[in-house]
Amino acid sequence: MEDRALKKPGKIYVVGTGPGDISHITPSAQQAIAGSDIVVGYSAYVELIKDLVEGKEVFSTGMTQEIDRCRKAVELALDGKIVSVISGGDPGIYAMAGLVFELLRQREGDVLLPAVEVIPGISALNACAARLGAPLMHDFASISLSDRLTPWDTIERRLNAAAMADFVIVLYNPKSKGRTEQIGKARKIVMKYRSPETPVGIVRGAMRENEVAIVTDLGGLLDHEIDMQTTVVIGNTNTLVWNNLMVTPRGYEKKRHFSR
Ligand code: SAH
Repeated sequence: MEDRALKKPGKIYVVGTGPGDISHITPSAQQAIAGSDIVVGYSAYVELIKDLVEGKEVFSTGMTQEIDRCRKAVELALDGKIVSVISGGDPGIYAMAGLVFELLRQREGDVLLPAVEVIPGISALNACAARLGAPLMHDFASISLSDRLTPWDTIERRLNAAAMADFVIVLYNPKSKGRTEQIGKARKIVMKYRSPETPVGIVRGAMRENEVAIVTDLGGLLDHEIDMQTTVVIGNTNTLVWNNLMVTPRGYEKKRHFSR
């Protein structure tokens, strides 16, 4: 047993900092950061909220070093510190919350564990849907195209299932510098079940200075710039385009019609 076994642990806030600028961070998230001794996060996300972390101790690392960041946060909290682990968007969606719990689970029994509070944030799907109109009014499936941690077979199976069941599909991590093929493969799978005219929204840098939102269709999906700051939303078979906005009808109009 280490000395720390009897030491009073600190606390870990796993904080969602939203899609971009500070106006899209919740007051709870801002309070958690303000009340922390140290902020741990991916350097690009820390940069986006630099006004909030001014004067605070910061531990930041590159994008793929999530495990190092979470380990550091756990160590600091075991030493009695109040730590904010920050994630862009929501911390429980393709982000850090799960990893923090997994690491704490490994320490269970050795030491007194710190309290953990997850503070939700506006995820890319909320931000991008808002920019596109109202594409998520009906059932949707979110699929990450990153095969860094998930086998590509599994991703293909999910794409097929979601497309077959007519879910609106939100694609996270559609493309990066080193991962360029997946978006084309995903489009091909969805095309087995939906027409080339199916509306598609592409949003890059939602709520950031470089924001671009495009409404196109499945046929034209690959003609636009897509990168790791982009989320793609593929409509279902009822999604329509009105005034350059994507709208997935929920059925209110039909209901009114039937009840007459
Ligand atoms: N936890 C984050 C997701 C992290 S995965 C969240 O809840 O939003 C990273 C992926 O999220 C990116 O590749 C991109 O697909 C999407 N993303 C994050 N921020 C975005 C933004 N501002 N605009 C568009 N897509 C974004």
